[in-house]
Amino acid sequence: MKTPTGNQLLRRTILWLQADKKCHWCGRATLLCDNVAPDQATVDHSIPRGRGGPDTIENCVSACRQCNEARMATSRSGRDWDRHVAEAAITTATT
Ligand SMILES: [Zn+2]
Repeated sequence: MKTPTGNQLLRRTILWLQADKKCHWCGRATLLCDNVAPDQATVDHSIPRGRGGPDTIENCVSACRQCNEARMATSRSGRDWDRHVAEAAITTATT
């Protein structure tokens, strides 16, 4: 696994605090940890880099690992990301 550099860790921390320690997409509480977990806070690109999004903090949000990975999968498969968020919100509300 790639270890975050100082700048990446700083960016992750800033975004996490700005997001009130919650996932930008599904709103669940996230953890700023190095353990790979579904609720681990990650840096997610609003406009995916694969679609020309810049690697700047303005284009980044704090997202849980589950949403981050689901977004990557949906952008690859062309699935509807909004529908995934709606499903995740329902799951969060009912658990
Ligand atoms: Zn999430």
